[in-house]
Amino acid sequence: MITEGSWWAEARRLLLVLALAGLAGLASGYLAHCLAVAALGLLCFWLYQIRRIHDWLAHPEQEPPESFGLWGTIFDQIYRIQRENREATLRLQSTVDYLRDSFASIRDGVIIVDPDAAIEWANDAARSLAGLDYPKDRGQPLLNLMRVPEFVSYFLAGDYSKPLQITVSEATDRHLLVEVTYFGEGNRLVFLRDVSAMVRTERMRRDFVGNVSHELRTPLTVIKGYLDTMLDSGTELSNSFRRPLEQMVQQADRMESLLTDLLWLSRIEAIGGDDKVEAIDMAALVCEVKNELEVAYPDRLRTRIESRSKIEGDYLELHSAVTNLVQNALKYSDEGTPVELVWREAPGEYVLEVIDQGIGIDESHIPRLTERFYRVDESRSTRTGGSGLGLAIVKHVAAAHDADLRIDSVPGKGSTFTLAFHR
Ligand code: ADP
Repeated sequence: MITEGSWWAEARRLLLVLALAGLAGLASGYLAHCLAVAALGLLCFWLYQIRRIHDWLAHPEQEPPESFGLWGTIFDQIYRIQRENREATLRLQSTVDYLRDSFASIRDGVIIVDPDAAIEWANDAARSLAGLDYPKDRGQPLLNLMRVPEFVSYFLAGDYSKPLQITVSEATDRHLLVEVTYFGEGNRLVFLRDVSAMVRTERMRRDFVGNVSHELRTPLTVIKGYLDTMLDSGTELSNSFRRPLEQMVQQADRMESLLTDLLWLSRIEAIGGDDKVEAIDMAALVCEVKNELEVAYPDRLRTRIESRSKIEGDYLELHSAVTNLVQNALKYSDEGTPVELVWREAPGEYVLEVIDQGIGIDESHIPRLTERFYRVDESRSTRTGGSGLGLAIVKHVAAAHDADLRIDSVPGKGSTFTLAFHR
């Protein structure tokens, strides 16, 4: 069906005009002239309509021109597309405004940078946290304005899988947690969170534990000294006092090892991973730990050295971690069973394993083992003199060396504790 405003209707109108012009031409004897005048008229009409479209598209905010037939339909269709586009743009703009408003009002700093790391947008919080002055700094390279060296290398490295904590100012004790995410085509979103209060509280907690442990050691040494003297006085001591005194010495020894572990833990936490400077010969370290513990546990330790590779690290920390793992393996297994220490290479990592054939650990305890003071069996740990801090120390040493601590265990069969260092 031919509807008004369709292409066929327009073609029919054109033929009608030409037919009328042809009839007029035949009647007057000027056929060619009449047809030419009609064609010229049509051409002028189309030219006029094209000009109206052109003028309107130059000022699309104006109302569309009125017309009839195919031209009217074309005007209406352009107008509809334009209106839909305008509505879509408005919707998009209001979404962008909404997002910007919410970013602008949050307390965390938000900075958007383009693929060349130039600032595109920043919120008010970024001004106080990173000293940016938006919109004045728009287009400036971010790294010209945020020059903390750790941030610069983190930003340039492009690996944002872990957030970064930086100290912006030592003087004002200002610390920021930085998170970067890619979006769009190479744009980056930089989030800054002020963690100064958290860092200060954490430092206070660490210092407190460190100081208390340190202060408690002096009176404990005095008490232990007196207890030892009393026990050494030999025959003068009646047997009813000897047993309680021996138990007091035992408990004082436990307390001392607890304080030593607490002090060591607070030292490792305080340093973080900043002092990894030496190349450590792990094969030699493993042999050294074996020799040291062999005196107390003769014939129980075996070593399997399959690599001579060295790793970057802190000698004392690694020594303490390996000693803790081996001591646990010895403590939580029968006297007749061996404990094996392995140093080898695996794809992408260097591996230290401590393998025992001891009591093992039920799966349900494994996720919590590295918590401070967590013990699977309180009575057994008390007997073995455990402080519950050994694996917490191992976990911190592992984190400071960018290593993973893995625990595999089968109750009744034994456990394997693995420290895996990334190559
Ligand atoms: P502790 O000083 O009590 O040994 P740790 O932090 O070193 O404290 O260990 C936490 C708990 O994990 C221990 O109490 C013990 O129950 C368990 N554990 C650690 N190593 C082993 C092991 N090799 N075999 C069995 N249980 C273990």
